[in-house]
Amino acid sequence: MIKENYEQIKNEVGEDINIIAVTKYHTVEETLKAYEAGVRHFGENRIEGFIEKRAALPDDAEVHFIGTMQSRKVKDVIGELHYLHSLERESVAKKIEQAGQHVVNCFIQVNVSDESSKHGLKPDEVEAFIGKLKDYKYVKVIGLMTMAPHTEDSSIIENTFEGLKELRDEIAAVYPDVTELSMGMSNDYPIAVKHGASYIRIGSKIMGS
Ligand SMILES: *Cc1c(COP(=O)(O)O)cnc(C)c1O
Repeated sequence: MIKENYEQIKNEVGEDINIIAVTKYHTVEETLKAYEAGVRHFGENRIEGFIEKRAALPDDAEVHFIGTMQSRKVKDVIGELHYLHSLERESVAKKIEQAGQHVVNCFIQVNVSDESSKHGLKPDEVEAFIGKLKDYKYVKVIGLMTMAPHTEDSSIIENTFEGLKELRDEIAAVYPDVTELSMGMSNDYPIAVKHGASYIRIGSKIMGS
């Protein structure tokens, strides 16, 4: 099941897109099944899940932290943290810098459209925020991340993903290392891919629900 799901999505989106299997609601055994099916990028949104899945998976798997990160928790995961999709606070960046272990590839979480969402910077705050981080040695901003609102209205989803892409293009003109787009989940990844996603984060559509 996991294997079929993963292969179907892989065929659909093509080899250039990094597929992150989000394992937050699934056991270590199911996560290892995904590894056996060929998945090499995994996503977890809680500290405990991140630590547990990281410890169980082989070294050539990458576990991405996709949830809200609190600065006091950075020390618990920093040894294994290579991708953070939800950077929005300088306090978190400072903890990564202080730890001074290795470069953490970060996406800035952006609240493109959804007024009700608590998470993510406003689009017009992003460039200044990246500017504050430009001399950090261990925080490397590689891209932007967003979540589309829950809606049946696909034009709202289209506008969200296109908005993130346009913001990335503006920012890349100033900060050329900012190239990646983390966007698209089980219900909306085809739209995200159409608008330039380079990382999609898929939970139920790969792992089952
Ligand atoms: C849970 C989660 C996903 C995956 O959600 P699905 O709808 O199951 O694909 C993607 N991104 C984030 C940040 C999540 O928390």
